[in-house]
Amino acid sequence: MNRKGLLPNLFIITLSYFALGFVSILFANLALLCMVLPFILLAKAKKKLWCQTYCPRASLLDAAGKKTNWRKNPSLITSGKLRGIMLWYFGLNLLFITGSTIQVAMLRMEAMQYIRLFIAIKLFSLPQLITFQAPLFLMHLSYRFYGMMASTTILALVLSRIYRPRIWCAVCPIGTISDATLRVQRKMKP
Ligand code: SF4
Repeated sequence: MNRKGLLPNLFIITLSYFALGFVSILFANLALLCMVLPFILLAKAKKKLWCQTYCPRASLLDAAGKKTNWRKNPSLITSGKLRGIMLWYFGLNLLFITGSTIQVAMLRMEAMQYIRLFIAIKLFSLPQLITFQAPLFLMHLSYRFYGMMASTTILALVLSRIYRPRIWCAVCPIGTISDATLRVQRKMKP
């Protein structure tokens, strides 16, 4: 991966994402872009263009991560275990988000209009600068996306301060799925 190819100051996008949650939590649904764009670019460029050039999280980690005295990667990462765990976490999270949003839409479950970190840690609702009359399932979905993005960003930042800036990229589910997609694409090449 070309680690010098990121466009400058993309971290502003990540910071803006979390700030926009205070304007209206509905902006949290922009997280979908971060999940879809990497694969659209991958399909077009046949390489990890998102990771190499456009990833705002990588930019944030470069800016905020440890600059010197990098530590050796822990065995949890070198063994690939954490990568597997994060992939499961990501998959289960998406499953819970989809399932619970459908349940809320069908009036079988109350909307959870608060942030939850790492699926389990209940936090609070965000003060809203603008209040839209949005359906409850959309509010629920927005808070779920915001919580998921906040959880992984916090984890990535903690790792970047303990070890090295981009250590998160070794376990990032988007990076893992991109790698797997590329491998399949190469195998299918005539
Ligand atoms: S691996 Fe994840 S965090 Fe790292 S550059 Fe790619 S999408 Fe961004």
